[in-house]
Amino acid sequence: MSESKGIAYCHGQFMPIEEASVPILDPAFHKSDVVFDAVTVCDGAFFRLDDHMERFYASCEHVRLTPPLPDAQIRSIMAQCAHRAGFTESIVFVLCTRGRYAGGAAFGDPRTAENELIAYAVPFFTIVAEPKMKSGAHLWIAQNRRAPDAAINQRCKNFNRMDLTAAHFEALDAGADQPVLLSTDGYVTEGPGFNVWIIRDGKALTPGDNLLEGITRKTVFDLCQDIGLEAEATDLKAEDLENAGEVFISSSAGGVVPVVRVNDKPIGNGAPGITTGRLSDLYWAKRADGWHSIPVADLLEPEEEQAASA
Ligand code: PLP
Repeated sequence: MSESKGIAYCHGQFMPIEEASVPILDPAFHKSDVVFDAVTVCDGAFFRLDDHMERFYASCEHVRLTPPLPDAQIRSIMAQCAHRAGFTESIVFVLCTRGRYAGGAAFGDPRTAENELIAYAVPFFTIVAEPKMKSGAHLWIAQNRRAPDAAINQRCKNFNRMDLTAAHFEALDAGADQPVLLSTDGYVTEGPGFNVWIIRDGKALTPGDNLLEGITRKTVFDLCQDIGLEAEATDLKAEDLENAGEVFISSSAGGVVPVVRVNDKPIGNGAPGITTGRLSDLYWAKRADGWHSIPVADLLEPEEEQAASA
């Protein structure tokens, strides 16, 4: 039997992920009128699910989307996606789409649309390919700027990603792994799927504006407190990254990941930083200890729970 690529919940039903689709008349498709969140499952347990759901509902509210199901049911659907796919290591996505305009028309009043919920579980993946998770990533400061908050509130987790995709092409063309985008006024923001950090003068620094406030970013603030390292959100320029003692990125897709090169400059001595390593080890150790975790099995319906423990 071939391994599952994932299970989706779409239009009220569970199905293999290859069969799930968004109708082209849903503005989620033709207007990117959709918000989402992505939660990791490791060793069969969600990490910081409450934080992800809080961010998901804030994203929905910002663009006037209303998930059509109660919170407990949404969590149960997310758990069922991971469980039905047989994944103990997974990333589970939850999306609220605008849905079809009244009468199913191609254009119309967004206030009339019936919002839809989609969820899916895919195998766990990382923001850079596996060997670089340890040996360190190469970041590229892209020419393409991040869309400003005044146009698209980046605190809202969205799929308006033309800026991120153009920057990704730039990074790949330059032989790097991932791009970092500057704001239109020249400050470091983030990359596609991650926040950026530097270690400078014994402090962990990360940008504070024009970005998604990652749940892993929040976790790094907690970890810094654990190891007695001062951490602060502040404005950073491209040179601050290039000249930092250490650089790392934070993402649900891999935790704390070292960066060893920014543009053509090696960072520090060109090897992953010691503090970065401490934070990364602590991240995984605390997760293995059940920190902020909720077992998938706890959110299943009773009959599925029995099957999960059989
Ligand atoms: N920034 C962007 C644009 C993202 O898409 C993501 C995650 O997908 C992040 C940052 C990191 O957020 P988190 O730590 O919640 O995964």
